[in-house]
Amino acid sequence: MTAILDVQNVSKTFVTPLDLAEKLANLMGATNREIRVQATSDVSLTIDKGEVLGLVGESGCGKSTLGRTVAGIHQASQGEIVWKGKKLSAMNAREKRAYVLAVQMIFQDPFSSLNPRRRIAQAVGEAPVAHGLISRKEQDDYAVEMLTRVGLDPSLRDRYPHQFSGGQRQRVGIARALAVNPEFLVCDESIAALDVSVQAQIINLFIDLREELDLTYMFISHDLSVVRHISDRVAIMYLGRVVELAPTRELFANPLHPYSAALLSEAPDLRSGKRSFHPISGEVPSPLNPPSGCHFHPRCPHSTDLCRTERPVLRQVAPGRQTACHLHAT
Ligand code: SF4
Repeated sequence: MTAILDVQNVSKTFVTPLDLAEKLANLMGATNREIRVQATSDVSLTIDKGEVLGLVGESGCGKSTLGRTVAGIHQASQGEIVWKGKKLSAMNAREKRAYVLAVQMIFQDPFSSLNPRRRIAQAVGEAPVAHGLISRKEQDDYAVEMLTRVGLDPSLRDRYPHQFSGGQRQRVGIARALAVNPEFLVCDESIAALDVSVQAQIINLFIDLREELDLTYMFISHDLSVVRHISDRVAIMYLGRVVELAPTRELFANPLHPYSAALLSEAPDLRSGKRSFHPISGEVPSPLNPPSGCHFHPRCPHSTDLCRTERPVLRQVAPGRQTACHLHAT
């Protein structure tokens, strides 16, 4: 396998600056400070061409931020995204434009990104025209081709977004992404808002498209049963850090990190029909003030003094398996 995307020590910090009133108050002796949230911290992982990497974790763990950083929507505060061996920060304008087309994002709610006054054929065909991939004359036929590819009846092309069901809208969102010939899709909770039967259809569509178009995926989800079904490998995130990275089968058979083990033991299972997600014990700490050392130590049944003071690094513990836990440090 050849690496197509390399995430190298990527951190993303969001800063909310002081407003004018807070600045004025500081001049008079107050001690207001800007708010800094470290959404991702020193994340490193590689994705091979044609691979599906699942990215999971509880709400607020930084998985969407990482996905958006990979897709070029957020700029990394530190670290590098490397695409086919070239650093994003070293790309010229032409290379960056090509990257932004090659890496497309599929969101949970495609409706919010569709103009309610534009017909679906226009929504699907406008980006390839704007980027010079097709001519204006070809737009309608091209949109029909894309709609057909994602399993939509092309006779629906003159309809507006509100005339589609949730599943159909998601197919439109996928058609829009495919229209610019991407190589890599970042799917961010792309099926979370859909009914279970429609979820299965969209997952099958993703699997088929991977085969037909040789696509690579970063598949972000809080739903482990979905990730298990579609992914070759899984990265588990906790409070901005990757804590375990493993082939899917091995992870589900034998999770090494205590957080992974807790998460998997509570996971809903499509086969048993158990759908509700039960969070593991304890609250997810605030990313505004994360715990010292291992972020998971306040919830971990195995924590020691070392865990409270020293961050465990993500290290290889077996072929293809990495975990960040002092239990596996030797
Ligand atoms: Fe638990 Fe310590 Fe491992 Fe963190 S490093 S998961 S606190 S045993």
